[in-house]
Amino acid sequence: MSILIQNLREVEARVAAACARAGRDRGEVTLVAVSKTKPVPMLQEIYDAGTRDFGENKVQEICAKQPVLPDDIRWHMIGHLQTNKVRQVIDKACMIHSVDSLKLAQVIEKEAAKRDLDIPVLLEVNVAEEESKFGARTEETAALIQEIAQLPHIHVRGLMTIAPFVDDPEENRPVFRRLKELSVDIAEKNINNVSMCELSMGMTGDFEVAIEEGATLVRVGTAIFGARNYDK
Ligand SMILES: *Cc1c(COP(=O)(O)O)cnc(C)c1O
Repeated sequence: MSILIQNLREVEARVAAACARAGRDRGEVTLVAVSKTKPVPMLQEIYDAGTRDFGENKVQEICAKQPVLPDDIRWHMIGHLQTNKVRQVIDKACMIHSVDSLKLAQVIEKEAAKRDLDIPVLLEVNVAEEESKFGARTEETAALIQEIAQLPHIHVRGLMTIAPFVDDPEENRPVFRRLKELSVDIAEKNINNVSMCELSMGMTGDFEVAIEEGATLVRVGTAIFGARNYDK
């Protein structure tokens, strides 16, 4: 078995074990393979092993990979999205995890309306209030969702966060718990056109803790594909 398939099997086993620990059904959690910077043959290999959900953080990378890989891949846009790139990605991503402003949502609405598309999105929340990170502030999230809910071609499906980089994943448990609480609070408002079914949280360093705290989408790159090399 290649190292890539071995890694994938290991991550899958860890996802299943975390679900079991939390008393959750394995089917409640989608493993999104974060393939940014990785070449097409690597994606094809884990596609052949059954992976259908891939995460990318750059529009140009989705646009380059999508046409040369199978049609049934679900591409998740997980990175910060600039308004001037919305048009290119809108018909390629199955979900945009990184909506963090009304302005971005309005541009998505405009492009979606032109093509009569319905776009599922998640609100990115900067739960840990790290200055370096994108995302709405926790306390402004509900109000922002109320406004985005007015846009007919956008459907808010839940929340996303990028937790801090930590040595001990337990340090991020309160961050994940906070995002879950926020999603329950917002769900209770019963906002028309908004559901809080999805929680996108957890990466290589902390996805098991995130699953224990209610993640429905975990975004795992390094543990599957190995370390990324950015200097080429
Ligand atoms: C790169 C990235 C990931 C995956 O990170 P790993 O630590 O390699 O698993 C997850 N989410 C986002 C938003 C990313 O940009």
